[in-house]
Amino acid sequence: MLSTARSRAIWQLSRRAQVSARRSYSYTANEQRGTNDPNKPKEVPNVSKTNELPTETIHQDAPLQENVEDAERLRVAQAPNRATTWSRSQKPRGQAMTGPRFEQTIMELQPAPQAAISLIHKQPVRWTHERVVSCDGGGGPLGHPRIFINTDKPQICQCTYCGLPFANEHHRKHLESLPETSYPLSAQGDVAEIPESQRITNEALGQR
Ligand SMILES: [Zn+2]
Repeated sequence: MLSTARSRAIWQLSRRAQVSARRSYSYTANEQRGTNDPNKPKEVPNVSKTNELPTETIHQDAPLQENVEDAERLRVAQAPNRATTWSRSQKPRGQAMTGPRFEQTIMELQPAPQAAISLIHKQPVRWTHERVVSCDGGGGPLGHPRIFINTDKPQICQCTYCGLPFANEHHRKHLESLPETSYPLSAQGDVAEIPESQRITNEALGQR
């Protein structure tokens, strides 16, 4: 009888250990940090006042120097053309650019790619007389598998891979009568616009 009670106690203990182990594993695996986390990461400002002093370097024409306010603005801005995050999988830049890697660096010299989600909405609509158009993103190594897009509906039909907009000429009047559209209906002369025919060569891995 005693041994049964004892073995049950041992089983319960091991079971509890398993459950708590699993719980702590899932916690770290998802990197969830609750608001009541007692070990909150310490917020250390990594934009340094020492960067205001000019530093000469042989690799740069101008001395390395930056204003603290400008650097802080650049550190926190998500992208040059987007102030905040636009996807749930993104980490705010202010959180991502912390730690020793980003200490005492000139923020202006850090990579800051433009947000593609904003750039694609500067592409003008590709007008067509066809009911079905195809898009391969321009082909070549930067393209995507060719897909076919139906343009029957009176709306801008965008490619689900790269977001390029297409519309049928039949709906031009209707689209032009709308107060605003998600893509410009004609070329605006924006530097972000890409030419309609990007392909230069036809071979499989041809460069654009
Ligand atoms: Zn596409």
